[in-house]
Amino acid sequence: MRDNSVMTYSLIILGSGQDGGSPQVGTVSHAGLERSASSVAVMSGEGTVLLFDASPDIRSQYKRLVAHCGCAPPLDGVFITHGHMGHYAGLVHFGTEAASTDGLPLFAPSSVLDFLEGNEPWATLFSGEHLLPISIDDATATVDRITVSAVHVPHRADFTATVGYSIAIDDDPWVFYLPDIDGWDEWPEAEEVFTRHDVCLIDATFSSMDELPGRDIAAIKHPLVPDTIARFQHLTPDHTMILTHINHSNSLGVLDADITTLAHELGFTIAHDGLVINHD
Ligand SMILES: [Zn+2]
Ligand SMILES: [Zn+2]
Repeated sequence: MRDNSVMTYSLIILGSGQDGGSPQVGTVSHAGLERSASSVAVMSGEGTVLLFDASPDIRSQYKRLVAHCGCAPPLDGVFITHGHMGHYAGLVHFGTEAASTDGLPLFAPSSVLDFLEGNEPWATLFSGEHLLPISIDDATATVDRITVSAVHVPHRADFTATVGYSIAIDDDPWVFYLPDIDGWDEWPEAEEVFTRHDVCLIDATFSSMDELPGRDIAAIKHPLVPDTIARFQHLTPDHTMILTHINHSNSLGVLDADITTLAHELGFTIAHDGLVINHD
């Protein structure tokens, strides 16, 4: 019998950008900062790999995973947060024309599964049994001592509901992945949920209402980074608070930008593609 008592776990940020990545089509990025669309993977020392969000950049992100693991690992499960394109479009790479997976477990809120199973090209992934749909509304999924549960959050419900994912090791909450939320006032549970987890990846899409000239940011609701870091700075001494899902228009992460300096001074980590966090 194998000894799991010393098993190690790690989290790799495969993508730190908003759905369109950075740069987006038709734009330039801030100071050359490149980000692929939001996605993370959790791996165990036994080779289990769970993917959170299947982004449009999934091929380059898998290449990063291969470089990290030193092999080409099969995926043991994919978890989708919601039905905005940056979070599920990569699923096409599991179909007949590409990886042609056989019953890969696809965990998502039931509204996401309904949306995917009701629309091509996603529906074929299920009828062809490349993906096995598993609703995670009120359930948890446990693979190799990694337990995942969904937490519903308010976020523009264009097609589906939205969840964040709580990832626990041996039932001890470790990571909370929350790429998208409308705002903190709309979700008063944030403080309690963040406090329960060692590592929190949270929505840092925009830093200013003026970032997208010609577009109404108020119609694309997200908390602003200055508010987020002011609200949760008291958590940074004991928690790894990672700002992610960063829009191409956001100067967060640019070395000499004021918002970068402020976030670092308050103890936050700014996500970048390839950042690895190991479980203690
Ligand atoms: Zn998003
Ligand atoms: Zn979204």
